[in-house]
Amino acid sequence: MPARIIDGKAIAADLRGKVADAVHRLRRDRGIVPGLAVVLVGKNAASEVYVRNKSKAVTESGMHAFDQYLPDSVSETDLLDLIGRFNGDARVNGILVQLPLPTQVNLHKILWAIDPAKDVDGFHPVNFGRLASGLPTLVPCTPLGCVRLAKTVHASLAGLEAVVIGRSNIVGKPVSQLLLAEDVTVTIAHSKTRDLAAVCRRADLLVAAMGRPEMVRGDWIKPGATVIDVGINRAPGQEGKKASKSRIVGDVAYAEAVTVAGALTPVPGGVGPMTIACLLLNTLSAACMQNGLPTPNF
Ligand code: NAP
Repeated sequence: MPARIIDGKAIAADLRGKVADAVHRLRRDRGIVPGLAVVLVGKNAASEVYVRNKSKAVTESGMHAFDQYLPDSVSETDLLDLIGRFNGDARVNGILVQLPLPTQVNLHKILWAIDPAKDVDGFHPVNFGRLASGLPTLVPCTPLGCVRLAKTVHASLAGLEAVVIGRSNIVGKPVSQLLLAEDVTVTIAHSKTRDLAAVCRRADLLVAAMGRPEMVRGDWIKPGATVIDVGINRAPGQEGKKASKSRIVGDVAYAEAVTVAGALTPVPGGVGPMTIACLLLNTLSAACMQNGLPTPNF
């Protein structure tokens, strides 16, 4: 039987609807309107699209968007000043600096300058440390989306064997911590892992986040496993009648995986939409925490 397709678009739309309802109640009952500041440095077409989509989603959910576009030549001092201003602005509950940053700017200095209470990307070492310590915190959006998607397949993840391919601070490490917090047995694989295919075949839950187009083949997947494909890669387009310049593919060979897995996220339309929905959720949570209110429990 072909795998169940985990419809990230629909699941994200449902979450966004819940966030919008909660934002509406917050405004009506407390006069609070959560705000998100997104900072984009330089002219990168893909990042511009991401930022535009994020802002649109923010305003559609009833929150305020404070976007700031800076030139590629911006100095580290100017960027730090801007973050300082957002840290001190009560209308801004969340701050996100779109990566990558130009080389004259020290990435760590920038990420560490963001007030951890407003760090909706969850990249600040304080939030990273809290996550690793099992404390409540703002959690990176993509990993949060991955776990929420897995939970639409498994009511409980406890006891499952998971393999996460990739150990980046953005995806691999935080998703592993989140899974551990769900009582999953986690193996983290990376570019030096020996016999990756055999390691993957152990997984009830396979999270592919290495940025290698269609590297996970059908015979790497345990029959019936749940596969969360985080990868977003540009691959050469189709030839022939439906010829196209390029197409977006994941880290998993979808056509093969769909015949083996029990459930699978598509690319596009899987993890991607959840990342934005979780950013909205994090902004709402940050606003609640900053106002001494309980965080959303949906
Ligand atoms: P990254 O920082 O480049 O990290 C890639 C990780 O994969 C590294 O840990 C690397 O291992 C590992 N890796 C690379 N080649 C490998 C191989 N041949 N075998 C095993 N492991 C390998 O990437 P990232 O930022 O985590 O992103 C990963 C993918 O997710 C990318 O396609 C990215 O576009 C996508 N992504 C999607 C979203 C979304 O919203 N859907 C969000 C973020 C990222 P080493 O540590 O040993 O080098």
